Amino acid sequence: MASLMKGRTGDWEIVIGLEVHAQVTADAKLFSGASTAFGADPNTQVSLVDAAMPGMLPVVNEKSIEQAVRTGLALNAQVNLHSVFARKNYFYPDLPQGYQISQYEEPIIGEGEIVIDLPEGDSKTVGIERLHLEQDAGKSLHDQHPSQSYIDLNRSGVTLMEIVSKPDMRSADEATAYIEKIRSILRYIGSCDGNMQEGSMRADVNVSVRRPGEALGTRCEIKNVNSIRFVRQAIDHEAARQIEIIEDGGEIDQETRLYDPDRGETRSMRSKEDAHDYRYFPDPDLLPIDLDQGFVDQLKQTLPELPDQKKIRFTDDYGLSPYDASVLVAERETAEFYETVAKGRDAKLAANWVMSELFGRLNKADTAIAASPVSAEALGGLIDLITDDTISGRIAKDVFNEMFETGKDAAAIVEEKGLKQITDTGEIEGIIDTIIADSPDNVAQYQGGNMKVIGWFVGQVMKASQGKANPKLVNELLRMKLDA
Ligand code: ADP
Ligand code: MG
Repeated sequence: MASLMKGRTGDWEIVIGLEVHAQVTADAKLFSGASTAFGADPNTQVSLVDAAMPGMLPVVNEKSIEQAVRTGLALNAQVNLHSVFARKNYFYPDLPQGYQISQYEEPIIGEGEIVIDLPEGDSKTVGIERLHLEQDAGKSLHDQHPSQSYIDLNRSGVTLMEIVSKPDMRSADEATAYIEKIRSILRYIGSCDGNMQEGSMRADVNVSVRRPGEALGTRCEIKNVNSIRFVRQAIDHEAARQIEIIEDGGEIDQETRLYDPDRGETRSMRSKEDAHDYRYFPDPDLLPIDLDQGFVDQLKQTLPELPDQKKIRFTDDYGLSPYDASVLVAERETAEFYETVAKGRDAKLAANWVMSELFGRLNKADTAIAASPVSAEALGGLIDLITDDTISGRIAKDVFNEMFETGKDAAAIVEEKGLKQITDTGEIEGIIDTIIADSPDNVAQYQGGNMKVIGWFVGQVMKASQGKANPKLVNELLRMKLDA
């Protein structure tokens, strides 16, 4: 599904590869025991190793290795039993070592692939180039003092997984679907919380353009994009910028750029280093990581059912469309919520209620499903009242709103407000008779062949019954009486 971009001189294809940096969920940093909790006071979570005091020795945190391996397995990727930490020499103002410990030629995870979910239920496979472990840098704060920068080393040394994709994406839609899928997988297995606002997941976005069918063009890398919306905007702006340059007869310089969301443009940060500029070499303070297959196999056993497997199960077992299934499995909590609602009930009706009414209200209230004021059991209870004809689908929406606001259960609200559906034919007939007697004109119209007035009659009966008459019965009885 190549979506081409129109230029002055014809069509262009956008080529995108992403490097996702994901902070590993672990109590300690990659090479020290300091805490990694978010939001602590500056420089309170810094060990002597993180501060790069002379003579300190890094010791690798086993939990970080486990999380990287589990993530590799979940990305259907090759786990390399032998991998090596390397020094990447570069001046990071907020990483006092003067180099970053990363992995280069021998990363812990090799090639893999994931399936991304596109609008209208389409999907596409995107290749993973590798996943390696590295240290995060600290943070420079430029807004605390008029002429000085402050440095917070809390984040310095925290474990990052850098997940590098192949240049397989062809549009901003595909790139955002990729990030959403990576985030979903990481959250399922608990290796990263995927929280882009807090910076625990960020992306470097590589963009180039080419004429369809031609070789790959020169890429620019847009660094550290921290929201899905900005990824989308950065790609569109960067592609348009490159197309304009090439159409004007220019060439793209391979460079590192920054996206400025306020101005909606990317700007050059520096010309791109080549790998040899970093003078990578194996870190002499660290042994290579040698895993045995048994350890990997054991971790494989700890993986939960992943989103793609769940999606297939949801389409098979519940008869959901691939699109609905992909929405419901995107977050583990949502999938669990849905399954509780659907258990022993009409699965499609359950999906509709979760996806339209519940999601709608949660979005409006900016509330996560885990904090939903209507529990899965309570929503199930409401659906039961619809299926056993106690209330109509129409009334159910009002009841749901009330449940959301008060936290009461459906049966209590129906009882309290007297919302039980009227299924007593005698009572409905009584209402119909009154309306027919009061509106001879409309009766004449109907009997003269204008079948559409039936809608007017239904409306009147529903109004007179305060929405409680069973609509199916109303229709049947009305036709019976009017046709008589
Ligand atoms: P670097 O560290 O130099 O950024 P990496 O190998 O870590 O190199 O990442 C390169 C990223 O750029 C990968 O995600 C890859 O898919 C992507 N990429 C490579 N060539 C192109 C291209 N021509 N257009 C777009 N993306 C590309
Ligand atoms: Mg990179």
